[in-house]
Amino acid sequence: MLIDYLNDRLDEAKRRRVVAHLASCGECRKEAALLIRLKNNQEMALKEVPQDIKLSAFDLVPKAQPQEKSLLAMLNLEPVYDSLKLVGVTMQFMKKMILIGGN
Ligand SMILES: [Zn+2]
Repeated sequence: MLIDYLNDRLDEAKRRRVVAHLASCGECRKEAALLIRLKNNQEMALKEVPQDIKLSAFDLVPKAQPQEKSLLAMLNLEPVYDSLKLVGVTMQFMKKMILIGGN
């Protein structure tokens, strides 16, 4: 209910009920504040990743993983960055080997 409220998925009556409850319940206000903070962090984390890197990173995710498009997977790009770095280093190494072999 709280998440639906924060994502603007409630009709007017339900929204009012949640707001009224938040006004009287410190416990739920705390939870709402936490959820808002998490939501903002997720949006910021996603903004920091350039779109083209995000797309190429997804190309590297095995298609068998059902959670590949989930927010969790999107936030967990660090291992993908590491493997991208590794691919870059390997490519440079191979280019050098080809150059040496060509001489
Ligand atoms: Zn409550």
